[in-house]
Amino acid sequence: MRLIDLHTHSNCSDGTDPPAELVRRAAAAGVDVLGLTDHDTFAGWDEALAEAKRLGVGLVPGAEVSCRLGGVSVHMLAYLPDPDDAELDHTLERVREGRNARVPLILDRLREHGIDLTPEDVAEQSRAATSLGRPHVADALVARGYARDRRDAFDRWLSEGRSGYVTRYAPDPAEVIGQVRAAGGVCVLAHPRGRSSHRVLTDEVIGDLARAGLAGLEVDHRDHAPEVRARLRELAGELDLVVTGASDHHGVGKTDHDLGCFSTGEEEFARLLDRARSAAERSGRKTPAPYLP
Ligand code: AMP
Ligand code: ZN
Ligand code: FE
Ligand code: FE
Repeated sequence: MRLIDLHTHSNCSDGTDPPAELVRRAAAAGVDVLGLTDHDTFAGWDEALAEAKRLGVGLVPGAEVSCRLGGVSVHMLAYLPDPDDAELDHTLERVREGRNARVPLILDRLREHGIDLTPEDVAEQSRAATSLGRPHVADALVARGYARDRRDAFDRWLSEGRSGYVTRYAPDPAEVIGQVRAAGGVCVLAHPRGRSSHRVLTDEVIGDLARAGLAGLEVDHRDHAPEVRARLRELAGELDLVVTGASDHHGVGKTDHDLGCFSTGEEEFARLLDRARSAAERSGRKTPAPYLP
């Protein structure tokens, strides 16, 4: 049985390891197939793939697309789409622009609360990132002694409802499912009952997303208690959705998310690849092949 971990972040977004280093760490942790799913960017694919081939580690290229539904943040994992698809690229570009534009606004808010953090402080923490996030501001707060760690920075200032919180553009999840399918890829709803998304992702809404073309549900994730996982597994069965599990590893940026701590079963992985193949054929796009040695 291979250890299949389909949701991880490199420093192209808010993980702390460069893509090649992430692949090396995955190999060392015994991961056989790694999904690279940086927030709203495909920037790490090439570097990760080269290292995966060198080490003989499987790689499934993807991204975690930031969506919003009913004012609540919802994350959509997108696997194996054509990275050059114009419409999908336009959506991701818009999200990244929103991410970049938000940082100075966050710094303004923080300044009103007596915190003196400069754009350079944030740049220092996000040199390699194509996709900026609050975790980079959190790292800057830590570096300047305003917080102990990322979590502390979020709890004090950056989480929704805290004084440094600023909203940004995020597309509708059903719309993203359509775009990813048109680009020949498949979507898996990330940690649907995690943090805030449990407020909007009712069984009914997940049913609607399934009818819109969602391929799978990320069931086994740190943010889900065992009874939540059991219920989601049942729901996936009812809706004919693939069940995945993953670490959502962020390097040292998140504790309790070690590589391979949750994983996807072989059968479910095969079903996901099947659906990706069908989507690729239907779309007629030039989609990336997963690297599976
Ligand atoms: P953003 O992408 O800028 O909206 O920031 C959200 C990201 O920050 C999530 O994807 C997590 O990786 C991270 N995050 C959210 N809440 C926390 C927290 N309490 N502690 C550490 N990281 C967090
Ligand atoms: Zn993240
Ligand atoms: Fe997420
Ligand atoms: Fe994630």
